[in-house]
Formats: sequence, C-alpha cells, structure tokens
Amino acid sequence: MNSLAPSRLAYVPFVSVSNMMKLVHHIGVEQFLIDLSKYIEDDFKRWERFDKTPRVASHSIDGVIELMPTSDGEIYGFKYVNGHPANIKNGLQTVTAFGLLADVASGYPVMLSEMTILTALRTAATSAMVAKHLAPKKATTLAIIGNGAQSEFQALAMKAICGITHIRLYDIDAAATNKCATNLENKGLHITRCTTPESAIQGAEIITTCTADKQYATILTDNMVGAGVHINAIGGDCPGKTELHRDILLRSEIFVEYPPQTRIEGDIQQLDPDHPVTEIWQVITGQAAGRTSDRQITLFDGVGFAIEDFSALRYVRDQLKTHAFFDDLDMVADPNESRDLFGMLERAKP
Ligand code: NAD
Repeated sequence: MNSLAPSRLAYVPFVSVSNMMKLVHHIGVEQFLIDLSKYIEDDFKRWERFDKTPRVASHSIDGVIELMPTSDGEIYGFKYVNGHPANIKNGLQTVTAFGLLADVASGYPVMLSEMTILTALRTAATSAMVAKHLAPKKATTLAIIGNGAQSEFQALAMKAICGITHIRLYDIDAAATNKCATNLENKGLHITRCTTPESAIQGAEIITTCTADKQYATILTDNMVGAGVHINAIGGDCPGKTELHRDILLRSEIFVEYPPQTRIEGDIQQLDPDHPVTEIWQVITGQAAGRTSDRQITLFDGVGFAIEDFSALRYVRDQLKTHAFFDDLDMVADPNESRDLFGMLERAKP
C-alpha cells in the first residue's frame, strides 16, 4: 500500500464522551446498568483467571492519579483515573477517566474509550450487584450521603437492579442535593431531601456513602447505624481518605473487592491488616456466605477494582458490534513491511 491512509488494522475504535452518551441513551440508562452489572458479575465469577494487582497510584497534596490494569489472558485492559476532591471549587470534576482494551495475542489496542461516564455507570452497577447479594431482601429505601457526580447513577442502579423505590438524599452542600433530586425527577422514584445525615438514613435499608474529602472523615458514626442495614461505602478510596467511624467497621461483616488494594485504600485501612474480610467474588460463586441474619450489618467497602473497568470496556466493545457509536482513531503505525517503520515515515513526506 502506498498511501497516506493507514490500513484498517491501524484504526482503533474510539468512544468519545459524546458517543458514550449516545450509546447510553440508545440502550437506556437503567438497561445499560442492568446489562453492565451482569458483565461485572460474570467476570467476578471467573475471578481466578484474571491478573490482579493493586492499582498504581501517584499521590499529591490535591489528589491522586491512578492506572488500573488487568487481563483475562485474552484481552488486556487498563483505566487512567484521577481523584481530586478540590477540583469542584475550580469548576472541574473530582473524577475523570479513560481506558483501553488490547488483544493479548498481538498486543494491539482494540478499543479506546472515555471512562468518566463509564466509571460512574460501572461503580453504580457494581454497588447494586453487590447489594443484590448482601442487602436485606425486599429493601425499598436507599439513603445517599454525598450527592455529587456519582449519586444519580447510584440511585438508578439500585432501582433497576435491587428494586429500590425511595431515595433519601443528604449532602453538606444543599445545592448538590437539589441537583441530584432534580435529575432524578420523573424517574419512578420517591425522593426526599434531608438536611442532616441522621434524617437521611431514617428507615433506609441501604446506605450509600459517596462523599469526596481527602481526610479521615466520619460521614457515619456508630450510634447512627441500626441493625440489619447494608452499607455501600464507595467514597473512601485512597490512603488517608475514609468515610466511616472505625467502630462501625468493628460491628460489620465486611466485604471487599481485592483485599491487597482495599487494605491500602478502603475504609478498612483503619483496621488491623489481618482483620477478617470476605472477597465478594466468593459470595457470588457460593464459596463464602453473604448476609447470614436480619440483624447483621453488611458493609461493602468498595474502592473500585480494575476488573470492573475491564467488564465495562468489554460491555461497550460488544455494543459497538451493533451500534456504530465510535470514531476510527489512527493510533497504530502501519508500515508497508513490518520492520520498515522509517519507510512509513518517508511515505508521509509532503
Ligand atoms: P463529587 O465531588 O462530584 O461529589 C462529592 C459530594 O460529596 C459533594 O457534593 C460534596 O459536597 C459531598 N460531601 C463532601 N463531604 C461531605 C460530608 N461530610 N457529608 C455529606 N456530603 C459531603 O464526587 P463524585 O464523583 O460523586 O465521587 C464521590 C466519591 O466517590 C469520591 O470520593 C470518589 O473518589 C469516589 N469514587 C469511588 C469509586 C469507587 O469505585 N469506589 C468510583 C468513583 C468515585
């Protein structure tokens, strides 16, 4: 081939933010969350096949930048993601992300995608998938403390996957609660805006904490939490950034994604390094017990693990086979003869 245009193999499908939004609306947000939770659950069922490592984090005073890699032996994936709680003050988001899938056999990338929206969707799908296994049966009410970017996704996933009908909202910033309540209007949910965390968790069988603050915060204290609830704590996801008082952890049965990462980043960083925790994939495969009594407090100390991002990218890639919501990205060099990279450069001479 003697043209400036790369060959078909050199093109990599790229899902931009606008194409991701078109894809989500085309499928429907709730259907997307249901489908995605199944992909995540399927990958958790084959947990042992994956390469696993705690994410590679680069910390700074203001936040963290992380790389999250994994592979199932056939496909490799990674996500780039940041967490900068102070960004909000500057009109920037706390969390932004993009990710890539590659073919293990050739090492060639097979899809590049925005993952800011996809992270919110996969975090919500994971929360609800876990709650399906651990929350009290017939739970109807969810309290969400922290009504920022993740919150609406959390609400809709709990509705679509766990049958939640009532949402109680609280944020230290009433504008965030109003934003969340407005976005959830006409979505088939009863929404209550609360002015204290204590009132928000009244009557809730599931409590989601998704706040962002780089400190050992105590969003929930021990005396606030009654017997039998399921806590979905997803905002404490970094060393020095937690949400729950240590005493709640000591009263709860704790479930995690990948212990080596959660012990560094999760709320359990406050506990002894050998404090017993259950890996949620083992509950899903029936190798470990989930909730064993009505009075037990179950706690999902969710920090977000690479396999969830892999599942999300795998789901999006499968959707692209029937929905053309992508652009071709000229991302891989395509010399006429494999070793003639310089010849390819010459080929492009003006
Ligand atoms: P965001 O900044 O958009 O929203 C956070 C909200 O928390 C803000 O509205 C803020 O006012 C509120 N808040 C802060 N302190 C509070 C307090 N003491 N009580 C009540 N509300 C409080 O952030 P986001 O994108 O929604 O993310 C929320 C958190 O979830 C972040 O910490 C983020 O790192 C984490 N996160 C976790 C995962 C995961 O997989 N576990 C994935 C994505 C994000």
